[in-house]
This record gives sequence, structure tokens and C-alpha cells, in this order.
Amino acid sequence: MKATLQALHADITTLDVDAIVNAANTSLLGGGGVDGAIHRAAGEELTRECMGLDGCETGQAKMTQGYRLKARHVIHTVGPVWHGGTHGEPELLRACYENSLRLAAKNGLKSIAFPCISTGVYRFPPDQAAQIAVQTVREFLAVPSLIERVIFCCFGRDDLTRYQTLLA
Ligand code: ADP
Repeated sequence: MKATLQALHADITTLDVDAIVNAANTSLLGGGGVDGAIHRAAGEELTRECMGLDGCETGQAKMTQGYRLKARHVIHTVGPVWHGGTHGEPELLRACYENSLRLAAKNGLKSIAFPCISTGVYRFPPDQAAQIAVQTVREFLAVPSLIERVIFCCFGRDDLTRYQTLLA
């Protein structure tokens, strides 16, 4: 079956999907932005499970349960901090999407929602980030897997427009 890709204007902590992706930092112990929102909504059990994961490298991904979230799981990935674009930032952002999808597919998950990784405090240019996100997901889904639905969860109107344009 062909998977559907969709852009939504939403708070990712409210989505009823098999996994939401967290734009975490390397400690995996919570932070600001979407990371803080996910840890607050999931409750302290999430932070406790994360404490046992020994952190995560940039571009990699690790999965936990969703606890008080509607989402069954959280896939924590660490996006690159933007340092001008010549320090491997595009490749690392691509790796975040790929490794998150790989983990979802390996665990038999059917639906997954991504925030706009790295485009907040990590300052990745949003247009380029959206292009990388959509292209990486499309390439991944070109090979059949159990994944049926991928959501690009946009917190701002500008991101929603960006993703809608790319998906049209
Ligand atoms: P990073 O450190 O990877 O840049 P941020 O959390 O600062 O992560 O920002 C990443 C993106 O997540 C930004 O586009 C921000 O607007 C968005 N964001 C923040 N809170 C939420 C939320 N509750 N749901 C979805 N997206 C969110």
C-alpha cells in the first residue's frame, strides 16, 4: 500500500499516532521547545526511561514508550545545530529522518509524526530543512514498509505553507 504524507498545523503532543518524533538534545533528558512540551505532556516516566538510554548522538534515534501521550511511542532524535551549513548539517538532518523511519519500520509502527527538527533553537534554515525532510521521507517510502502514514507536524503557519507547497 502506498503511504500518505500529510502536513498538519498542530501541537505534536496531541497527535494520536504510533509514534511522535522528538527533536531532542544529546542528553535525552529534556529541554526547551518541542522537547520540553513532549516531556511535560508524557510525564516524568518518560524522563525516567530516557535516563536509562545513555544519551543519543546527533543524527541518531532512540525509541521509548509514550506514557501519558496519546502517541504510543516517542522516537527521540537529535538534529544538528546550524553552523553555516558546511559542517555536515544537511546530511545529519537527513540522518534524523532516515533513522527515525528505520526505527519505526523495524518496530512495525504504521503512523509517525515529525516536528520541524532543528529549525527552532538549532537555527537550521526552515526552507532547506523542509526540503530535506520531504525528500528523505519520500525516498524512504519508495521501498515498501509497514508505514502507512507520515505527518509533518507544523507548529507555525509558515511551516505549514512550506510543507503544503512541497507536498502538492
Ligand atoms: P531544535 O532544537 O531541534 O531546533 P525546537 O524545539 O527549538 O528544536 O524547534 C523545532 C521545531 O519544533 C520548531 O519549528 C518549533 O516551532 C516546533 N515546536 C515547538 N513546540 C512544538 C510542539 N508542541 N509541537 C510541534 N512543534 C513544536
